[in-house]
Amino acid sequence: MKVTLSVIKADIGSIGGHIKPGERLKARVRDYIEDKGTKLIHDYYLSSTGDDIAILMSHSRGEGNEEIHKMAWEAFKAGTELAKEMGLYGAGQDLLKDAFSGNVKGMGPAVAEMEFEERPNEPFLFFAADKTDPGAYNLPLYLGFTDPMHCSGLILSPKMSKGFTFQIMDVSYLEGDRVISLNSPEEIYDIAALLRDNQRFVVEKIYSGASGEIAASISTTRLHNIAGKYTGKDDPVMLARVQGEFPAAGELLSPYVKGHFVAGFMRGSHNGPLMPVKQNSTISYFDGPPVVTCAAFCVHEGKLTEAADAFDHPFWDYVRGRVSQKAIDIREQGFSGPAMLGYDELEYGGIVDKLKMIDRKFKVRKA
Ligand code: MG
Repeated sequence: MKVTLSVIKADIGSIGGHIKPGERLKARVRDYIEDKGTKLIHDYYLSSTGDDIAILMSHSRGEGNEEIHKMAWEAFKAGTELAKEMGLYGAGQDLLKDAFSGNVKGMGPAVAEMEFEERPNEPFLFFAADKTDPGAYNLPLYLGFTDPMHCSGLILSPKMSKGFTFQIMDVSYLEGDRVISLNSPEEIYDIAALLRDNQRFVVEKIYSGASGEIAASISTTRLHNIAGKYTGKDDPVMLARVQGEFPAAGELLSPYVKGHFVAGFMRGSHNGPLMPVKQNSTISYFDGPPVVTCAAFCVHEGKLTEAADAFDHPFWDYVRGRVSQKAIDIREQGFSGPAMLGYDELEYGGIVDKLKMIDRKFKVRKA
């Protein structure tokens, strides 16, 4: 059967600053879905990553479906009411518009969706990251889908020898969706040339070169493009089908061993290493470090299996230790140079006013 996976994620309030949404808030969102949503969807899974709540849904209504998006939006609105009652920090933070208008894209929440004909067995991964932005997935996707050093299937599996097509979006373009499709391996250097710029070019979708089937879907929301000011980082979600003509689950997990540096961390204004963490992990050190969770599922006739926590394994404890060291190392540098983001990324925050004020005090010395 044809199934659609939709994940919609928002920060609607958290405890103690940005630490976690808390069980009561998650329960309120879950109650709303149980009450209003179960007629619309086949199944769902609710989780948190740092201060964000994500609703993963399977249904048969296709991508961008108004009823599905509205249900998630209303579930987050119901949660926001409770967050306000409880006095949680940043209540309703990611709900940037007052009224729902057809689709949550462009309204604040992050969205990733894919529709496909179910294989007899259909394993997939659901990633959610916090304290970072959609470009955080650029490097792991590049390595997982194009590099045999991580994806041995590119050599070992004839089904994968035709490579993959990357659909990449220019997220700094505001007039519409500016996208390009590039094929790996033929155009691999062009793909790398774009993906090195995590703030501007973001992978939106990946397709199998052999079949054209959807392989991965990533949220591309940049909140400052909606709000015109800093309202929080754009904490991205991603769905990726695995096995068969797609990379194995472990091949897509492999690049996360790096703990590569991404934008985000404290006040969304720094660079920090991306730490792979367990489901429902909190935020802590320097409002970070940037974290990513991964829940693995099989979906069958629209029903989800229980979630397998892909980063809950002794191997990743070791990686977390190494990533912690990287986080401490870059924090040693405080605000200096690459420890903090460039002015382009800070221009939506309070530093703009501060620099304007300082600027007026400059004097040009006469020669
Ligand atoms: Mg967040």
